[in-house]
Amino acid sequence: MSKRLKIQVSGIVQGVGFRPYVYNLALKNELSGFVGNDSNGVFIEVQGGDNSVDTFLQTLQQSPPPLAFIESISSEEIDPKSMNGFHIKQSVKGEHMSTLISPDMAICDDCARELKNETDRRFRYPFINCTNCGPRYSIIFDIPYDRPNTSMHQFEMCPACQSEYEDPADRRFHAQPNACEECGPWVELWDFKRNKIHEKDYAIVLARKLLRKGNILAIKGLGGFHLACDAKNPMAVRRLRTRKNRAEKPLAVMCKNLDIARELTELSEAEINLLTSQQAPIVLAKKRDEQSQYIAPNNPRLGLMLPYTPLHYMLFNGNLDVLVMTSANLSEEPICIDNDDAFDRLRSIADFILIHNRKILQRVDDSVVIQLNGQNRIIRRSRGYVPRPTTLLHSTPTILATGGELKNTLCYSKGNQAFISQHIGDLSNTLALDFFDHTRKHLGTILEIEPEFIAYDLHPGYLSTQWALEQDNLPKIGVQHHHAHMASAMVENGLNEAVIGIALDGTGYGTDGKIWGGEVFMGDYVEVQRFAHFEYIPAPGGDKAILEPWRMGLSYLYHTFGADYQKYLPDEWSSYPVDQVVEMIAKQVNSPMTSSCGRLFDGIAAIAGGRTEITYEAQAAIEFQHLMEETDRAALKYQIVERGKHYEIQVAPIVKSVIQRLDEGASLGEMSFLFHKMLVMLFSDIADLAREQSGLNTVVLSGGVFQNSGLFEWIIPELESRGFRVFTHSEIPTNDGGISLGQIAIAQTLIAKNKNQANISYS
Ligand code: ZN
Ligand code: ZN
Ligand code: FE
Repeated sequence: MSKRLKIQVSGIVQGVGFRPYVYNLALKNELSGFVGNDSNGVFIEVQGGDNSVDTFLQTLQQSPPPLAFIESISSEEIDPKSMNGFHIKQSVKGEHMSTLISPDMAICDDCARELKNETDRRFRYPFINCTNCGPRYSIIFDIPYDRPNTSMHQFEMCPACQSEYEDPADRRFHAQPNACEECGPWVELWDFKRNKIHEKDYAIVLARKLLRKGNILAIKGLGGFHLACDAKNPMAVRRLRTRKNRAEKPLAVMCKNLDIARELTELSEAEINLLTSQQAPIVLAKKRDEQSQYIAPNNPRLGLMLPYTPLHYMLFNGNLDVLVMTSANLSEEPICIDNDDAFDRLRSIADFILIHNRKILQRVDDSVVIQLNGQNRIIRRSRGYVPRPTTLLHSTPTILATGGELKNTLCYSKGNQAFISQHIGDLSNTLALDFFDHTRKHLGTILEIEPEFIAYDLHPGYLSTQWALEQDNLPKIGVQHHHAHMASAMVENGLNEAVIGIALDGTGYGTDGKIWGGEVFMGDYVEVQRFAHFEYIPAPGGDKAILEPWRMGLSYLYHTFGADYQKYLPDEWSSYPVDQVVEMIAKQVNSPMTSSCGRLFDGIAAIAGGRTEITYEAQAAIEFQHLMEETDRAALKYQIVERGKHYEIQVAPIVKSVIQRLDEGASLGEMSFLFHKMLVMLFSDIADLAREQSGLNTVVLSGGVFQNSGLFEWIIPELESRGFRVFTHSEIPTNDGGISLGQIAIAQTLIAKNKNQANISYS
C-alpha cells in the first residue's frame, strides 16, 4: 500500500540543515516527494509504503537535526500521486520568509574530526563549520538567513566550497558560513603597537606559545573577545586581575577536554551533558582542586567550559590545558566585538591580540548555567540559547519590554512567543546603552516587528525605564519589579492561576517609592496582593550601603538596640566612620528605606564577622553562603507581625538571636547555616499563612537571592513537605535577566483586559 503525507514543520528549521536531513531520511526510507522552505518553516510531502512513511515521521519527530528547534509538526494524509524520486524545492527568490534564526552553536563532532584530519582540506582551518554547527545569530544583520545578509558576504566561496553548498546530499548544503582556507576568513596575531606578528596557522601556534609563557592574550571568538591566560600560571592570572581591575570575582576557565574538566571539578552526568552540549555554556561545577583558589576565591564552585570553536581547539596542546577565558571588557562595559575597538580598549590589559576578519555583528556573551536540585538553571542566557523563543500563555499585540538595570535583557512578544535578548549587562554606561539600542533594533528587524506597546520597570532611575518613557508614540505599561520576577516564573511554567509568589533579591522599586526586595505576593498577572515583606530599614548611603555591607549591619544593630548598638560592634569595624553613619540613619539622610532580602544577607554576614566591603555584586552573601558549617545550635528566632491583612517580618528578633548565638560562641560558618535555615522556615511559614488566608497551594520562587544554592536547595523540599506545588526557574534566569519576560507576561494580560497597570494592593 502506498501512503502520502503532507507535513508542516515550524520553529528554528531553516539554516540548520533541515532540508538535506529530510532529503537523506526520505532516501533512506525509499520515499518519493519533496521538501521546501516557506514563510511558516518547512513543508514536506512524502510517499511510500505505510511503514516507511510512519518511520520517516517518527524519526523526524524524535531525532531532528541537532540545531533544529521544532515548535510544531503537523501532518495529514493526502491522496497518493504518481511521481518518482525525492527532491529539494528551491526557495522562490523574493518570496517572503518569516522564520526563526538559530543561536550560535559549538563545533560539531564531524567538523572537529575534519579539523584534526591531516588529509582533509580543512585540516587546522579555524573557521570550519557545517549546517549542524557554527555561527548563526552573531553573524546576521538581516533576514532571510542567507549569506548576503551575514558577515560572510565579503567572502566569495571557492568552487570546492560552492559545490558543497549546492549539493543537497552534502552536510554543508546551504551552510551560510561555509568557508575554507582558500576562500574564508583567517586569523592574525598582533601586538598593541599595531605590528602584525603573523597570520593564519602559525599565528595560532605563536599565540599558544605566548600563552604558555604567561602572556595575556585578547582572543576574538564567536560572540566577542575573550581575555585569556594560562590558568595554571598564578602570576599571569594575578596580572590579569590587576589589569582588569577584577580583584576577587571568579574567572571562568576553558578546559582542553572533559578529562581536564574532571580533574578540576566533580562533574555529574547532567553537568557533563551540559558541558558537551552544542550550547556549550559555562557550567558552575563543584571544585575538586584547591589550586583554583586564585581563579575563584572563597567559592566552592568553578565556572568552566569546553572549547566551542575550532580556534579554541587549536589553542590547546600538550602543556597548555586550562585557560582563563574571561570576557574582554573593562568593569561593567559590554565585551569588545570589533577589531579596532579591541585594539583600543584592551591595550592596557592584554599583551597580544589574536584577531580574525569575520565580523561579529551581534555581541553574545558566554552563557552560564548551574545544576541545582537536579535541574539546569540558566543564570546568564546568551550564546547557544538566544534567540530561541519562550512560549507565552496567549497571543497579544507586539510588546517590547525594556527589562531592569543590572543584568539587563530586553524582550519582544510576537504572537504567543517571547524573544528574550542576549545578556546586555549593567545599563550604567553609554556603551551598554548603545548595546541595548542595537539589540532592540536588531531583534525587531529579524523578527520583523514594530512594538505596539512598551513595558518597563517602575524605577525612575533605570536607563531602560528612562528610555521607555521617552517613547512618546507608544502606550506604556509600568510593571513592578518583584511582580515581574514572580510573573517570569509563572509564565516559564505555563501557570495561568493565582499563586503565592516569593520574590527575593537585592533591589527593586516598590509602588510606595521604597526599595523592595523581600516580598511575598498572592495573586496573578493583574490582581496581586503584597502579602508579606521585611520591615523597612534604612540603607545608609544608598548605593554605598550595597558596596559596604557593614553599613547595613550597623543599620540593623541600630534598629534593634537603639543607643546600645555600640556594645555589639565587631572589633573589625573600628576603622569605619560608625558615628557618622549612625547620624545619617537617625536623621534619615541619604538612607532609603528597604525591605531587601539581599541587604539582610549582607548585614547579618557583616555582624557575624563576614565581609564588610565588597568588590563585586553580592560578594558578601556569596561568601557567607559558602562558609556554611552545619551545627546543632538552637535555631535563630523570627517574628511575623500582622498589619491588617498583610504581614511584616520583624528584623530585630533575627538580629537579637544572631547576637545571642555569637555570644554563645557560634562561628561565622555556623551563623551562615543558622541564617539560611531560618530563612527557609520563615518563608515556608509565610506561605502557610498565605494558604490559610487564600486557599492557594502553588508557590513560585524568583529573584536573584534564589541563586543561593543553600537557600534554594532547602526551601523547595521544605515547601513540598508542607504540601505546596513549587515552581521556579530553569530556562529563564531567576535574577534580573528574567525581568523583561515577566514584564511581557504582565503587560499582555493587562492589554487583554484593557488596563495599563496591575493592581498591587496591601491588604
Ligand atoms: Zn559541523
Ligand atoms: Zn572554500
Ligand atoms: Fe530583581
